[in-house]
Amino acid sequence: MIYDVHSHTWRYPDHFTETFRQQAVRMRGHELDWTTEFSKYRTTAQTADHQIKTVIFGGKARLAGLWVPDRYVAEYCKEDPEHMIPFLSLDPTQAGWRDEMVEGHQDLGMKGIKIMPMYAGFYPQDAEIDDLWSYAVVHNLPVLLHTGTTFVDQAPLDCTLPRHLDTVAIKYPDCKIIMAHLGHPYEGETVAVIRKHPNVYADISALHYRPFQLYHSLMLVQEYGVWNKLLFGTDYPVTTVDDSIRDLRSLNNMLEGTALPRLNMDEMEKMIYRDAGGILGI
Ligand SMILES: [Zn+2]
Repeated sequence: MIYDVHSHTWRYPDHFTETFRQQAVRMRGHELDWTTEFSKYRTTAQTADHQIKTVIFGGKARLAGLWVPDRYVAEYCKEDPEHMIPFLSLDPTQAGWRDEMVEGHQDLGMKGIKIMPMYAGFYPQDAEIDDLWSYAVVHNLPVLLHTGTTFVDQAPLDCTLPRHLDTVAIKYPDCKIIMAHLGHPYEGETVAVIRKHPNVYADISALHYRPFQLYHSLMLVQEYGVWNKLLFGTDYPVTTVDDSIRDLRSLNNMLEGTALPRLNMDEMEKMIYRDAGGILGI
């Protein structure tokens, strides 16, 4: 079994503002087709040769110009409930988020929470959102946060720094937290946080297309001894299962002819097949 802990669904372009779409060109230099279709997702998950369970969320960040209703995500996940795990999304800068949290969890049966502090413009450790963390702890809902940089002008970088999760984890040590994208390019902070907190993890989604940086980040992970805190993810539709696994497995190839240290490929395989379902209780 492979768990992809980070994938999206939304109606593209309806759930995005025009400004968001224009700014997103910065990500790869051209506009990407962000249409999501689970059947298409499956066809790009062949090399895995294993059953895949996929965590799926939309995203809510009024400041950045993205809003995917949880009901839309819940409907999408009805296509294959055995393999699709819906998470609700919250933007705590917007009125009504507490109601949306209860509705997503209790009425729509969603299994975790996705937040995007920088995109929405808030700090995850702000006391104003204590209700979010305490609700997550009481109901065993893992919280996955976008950590790391963005292409959106108005999203404050400071809100995304991985170090803020240290404050959260000290206050809510029982909360299962996943820091997305290894907090790139602040991977050093991410490694520092996941090493000291037993319930804080990081996903490696959407990093494989910057191979030198990913090699460097995973060497940090290796030297600090935190391979066991990494979870596999794609950030579909940004990338796919096949492309991610292929590039992860070939990261050492670029070192040929050098004496640079190699990534431990046994640890890499363990990461790809890690039982995120058991770890996160989803
Ligand atoms: Zn994402």
